[in-house]
Amino acid sequence: MKDYLVKALAYGGYVRAYAINATAVVAEAQRRHDTWNTASAALGRSLVGGLLLGATLKGDDKMTVKIQGDGPAGAIIVDSNGKGDIKGYIQNPHVSLPLNDKGKIDVRGAVGTNGVFTVIKDLGLKEPFSGQTPIVSGELGDDFTYYLAVSEQIPSAVGLSVLVDTDDSIKTAGGFMLQVMPGASDEVIDALEERLKHLPNVSSLLEEGKTPEDILEIIFDGEAIMILEDSPVQFNCECSKEKFATAIITLGTSEIQAMIDEDHGAEAVCSFCGEKYYFDEPELEALIQEITGEKE
Ligand SMILES: [Zn+2]
Repeated sequence: MKDYLVKALAYGGYVRAYAINATAVVAEAQRRHDTWNTASAALGRSLVGGLLLGATLKGDDKMTVKIQGDGPAGAIIVDSNGKGDIKGYIQNPHVSLPLNDKGKIDVRGAVGTNGVFTVIKDLGLKEPFSGQTPIVSGELGDDFTYYLAVSEQIPSAVGLSVLVDTDDSIKTAGGFMLQVMPGASDEVIDALEERLKHLPNVSSLLEEGKTPEDILEIIFDGEAIMILEDSPVQFNCECSKEKFATAIITLGTSEIQAMIDEDHGAEAVCSFCGEKYYFDEPELEALIQEITGEKE
């Protein structure tokens, strides 16, 4: 089953609903960064959350979510846009903690319970929008929910779920986001809260073969929902050797000369996708020539 995200309306438009299967995205991130189980779940939930928040963007708009907790995972950074692209990384991919007291992967233990949750949106305006809230849970779903409530004043419920296999690979990953629009009645909010209490994990529903549409049907349990659109999501990093060459040029000639003299080349690694780019001595010489404008 391919990854995709569904947008819908429920309760006469008073609730906006999003559900996603992001199994392939999270699996690719796991492979690219060689994350161990707890880190896989932490990065995976962040990617799912980034895609759900990103679903509110348009076209070329971009967003960065940075989760900086005090746990062993270190910082988690995900970048998404209005086209369903996402990339991301976790500072310490090799985090594997014992299961928590509920027998679940201890994402909170990896992320930590103190720190900051930051969202930066580039909406093509002069200044980017930036919002910041403290980490309140460390399990991440509640942290996305808290961010939306406090920073964007949108009462929401966000569920993020990753099922990690015993060999650290990803079985399923997905989630949902419900946003309550102004004017919704208390009955609507109470009914939603009641339903969410009994909702199984999205990753388990995906494992049973349920689609994002099915997940919305289960959440709204008989309530009329209007599907607005479904759209593909994908892990996509736009890095290239040319971009790294531009970055190396900014280091200046003496720095590049040192790479030639001491290392006889340079290797650049993209932190977002793990792709490696190698520059040999003639390529580095060419970069110096670009700076100095000299011709041989
Ligand atoms: Zn990259």
